Amino acid sequence: MTHTVGILGATGAVGQRFVQLLDGHDGFEIGALTASESSVGESYREAAKWTLETPIPDGIADREVLPTRPEAVPDDVDLVFSSLPSSVGERVEPDFCEAGYVVSSNSSNGRLDDDVPLTIPEVNPDHLDLIEVQRDERGWDGALVKNPNCSTITMVPTLAALDEFGLERASVATLQAVSGAGYDGVPSMAIVDNAIPHIGGEEAKMETESRKLLGEFDGAEVSWHGARVEASCNRIPTLDGHLENVFADLADEPSPAAVARAMRDYPGVDLPSAPESLIRVFEEPDRPQPRLDRNVDGGMAIAVGGVTDTDGGIRYNCLAHNTLRGAAGASLLNGELLADRGYI
Ligand code: NAP
Repeated sequence: MTHTVGILGATGAVGQRFVQLLDGHDGFEIGALTASESSVGESYREAAKWTLETPIPDGIADREVLPTRPEAVPDDVDLVFSSLPSSVGERVEPDFCEAGYVVSSNSSNGRLDDDVPLTIPEVNPDHLDLIEVQRDERGWDGALVKNPNCSTITMVPTLAALDEFGLERASVATLQAVSGAGYDGVPSMAIVDNAIPHIGGEEAKMETESRKLLGEFDGAEVSWHGARVEASCNRIPTLDGHLENVFADLADEPSPAAVARAMRDYPGVDLPSAPESLIRVFEEPDRPQPRLDRNVDGGMAIAVGGVTDTDGGIRYNCLAHNTLRGAAGASLLNGELLADRGYI
């Protein structure tokens, strides 16, 4: 069955990735593209500052950009992907849910709300059923589902793979690409030949979202994982791909070989856009690297390398493509999970 979908914020860095990933998708076809008032009425080609390596797909370039309001979206759309600034998402996404749309969103608003599923299909697909609680509490016919921040989703699958060893603490330093801040996010004069050791709000997102994602859902609420998570986030002048250095304390003190095996064997999920295996482990100590490895498995897998032991635990590096696995690809997978579970 094919579902007609909309993209809210379709002209931005993440919105463009949605357009790219949905081109030729078996289960979803694009029925609406929305953006801000300054783009409304323009063709998609005029409104989007297209930055991707592939051209704007056929049939999309001449589509008219619609207002980001439920009444502007055609009735046959039953799922909308949202890549709006969080201040806009906070205002607009509930209107869509109230109007009966299921919203699979990238924006950070609402990610920590008790009745909002924050989901990575390979890690915590069962949390999706929080939708029942949400509908009871909010009286919506639609629903709101979130994927985590791009830096969080790079690390959390690796922590999920390590949880069998008793995850007690994870400490992470990130090296994040400029596309993570959106098209207008970081001025070139600030980032070329430089590194910025602060990304507003990012540390807190990693520290909280990780624990919610790894938590237990009992059918009514999610109990957050008890591990301590601490993050330090840095912007560097790469285009795409967030690289992260993780130190994990594990109660069972496994060997690096056992850790690498657990990551390699971590199960994938049977959804159309899912990578064959979620975590790709490199043996070489100088991998993964953003330019070489961000497109592993179509940009949907997590690349890991440099697994070693330290005095206190295990150290490794992980990498994900921030606008694919970290954003549009993550929402798309949640959309596929929603379809698979009959929520749309
Ligand atoms: P972006 O490049 O700045 O794009 C923002 C989009 O939202 C554009 O389509 C823009 O339309 C639209 N928009 C802005 N203000 C609006 C308004 N008042 N009403 C309706 N539409 C409006 O940002 P982005 O990087 O794609 O990020 C989008 C969201 O995804 C953010 O919440 C971000 O935190 C999240 N996210 C981003 C990444 C990443 O790697 N970039 C990763 C994970 C999550 P116009 O073109 O008309 O201005």
